[in-house]
Amino acid sequence: MSLLVVGSVAYDALESPYGKVERTLGGAATYFSVSAAFFTHVNLVAVVGDDFHPDDEALLCKRSIDVEGLERTTGKCFFWAGRYSENLNERVTLTTELNVFAAFKPRLPEKYRYSKYVFLANIAPDLQRDVLKQVKGTPKLAAMDTMNYWIERTNEELRETLKHVDILMINDSETRQLSSEHNLLRAARHIFKMGPSTLVVKRGEYGAMLVDKHGVFCVPAFPLEEPHDPTGAGDSFAGGFMGYLASVGSTSDAALRRAMVYGSVLGSFTVERFGLERLLKLKRSEIHARARQFAKLTQFKL
Ligand code: AMP
Repeated sequence: MSLLVVGSVAYDALESPYGKVERTLGGAATYFSVSAAFFTHVNLVAVVGDDFHPDDEALLCKRSIDVEGLERTTGKCFFWAGRYSENLNERVTLTTELNVFAAFKPRLPEKYRYSKYVFLANIAPDLQRDVLKQVKGTPKLAAMDTMNYWIERTNEELRETLKHVDILMINDSETRQLSSEHNLLRAARHIFKMGPSTLVVKRGEYGAMLVDKHGVFCVPAFPLEEPHDPTGAGDSFAGGFMGYLASVGSTSDAALRRAMVYGSVLGSFTVERFGLERLLKLKRSEIHARARQFAKLTQFKL
């Protein structure tokens, strides 16, 4: 089943203790699409400026990613710059330039309107809602991400978008900020009152946690000796998670648990190198091999 995503397609400047890149293809929807395309066909909705390089477009087209919904306009692409701390756990945003996203009015190509799996990646909440409204009927699963930038600047719009999604997928500090609760389980209960029935908390090197009416399910992060750059790990997690669910056409408890593992697998590959570098070289066989390693990693007898 095809999967629709709206979010940023951007150029990023990245700095970590392992190095620096001045300008590389990034954006939440980019990491999401490249990850999800290992599992299923992806319909991408975003906007790019006239500085968008044809090689970067080719890189998306080469995969199972439809770019009819990728609008080109005059101006510059979304630009984001970030720097990571010594242990890679903290990040400061140095620059966020919305550029062409500031005036973006998404219009879904007709063939995208029947998508049953929808992911609203990190972007202005009113754009997320705009896209969801154009989907015909009720999607089988609508999930969304957001970040401190939108929680602080557009809280009311964000609350409105939250009413229309099944899953909220955010990191631990965003969970605490949105719910004003430090404890993640209490935060989940608080967030359920805002609309979503499932919360997925991405916890960086501590893995990820899913909370819903059935209870709690946790996966560790894959232990890596030399992580290089966490940029896009959360979006890759979301891509693996949603891509897997769309590929099996199920949202059962068992499928959600496997989706958590595939999300962690994709996130773990992303942090191995800078930007998209590792994802672009990744093979399906490596994904399945790492998923099997996850099963071993968490198996025990009582
Ligand atoms: P992550 O590391 O998963 O939080 O995602 C990093 C990606 O998100 C980068 O490639 C950025 O281009 C993009 N990004 C950063 N800030 C924003 C924002 N305010 N809205 C949308 N995308 C963003």
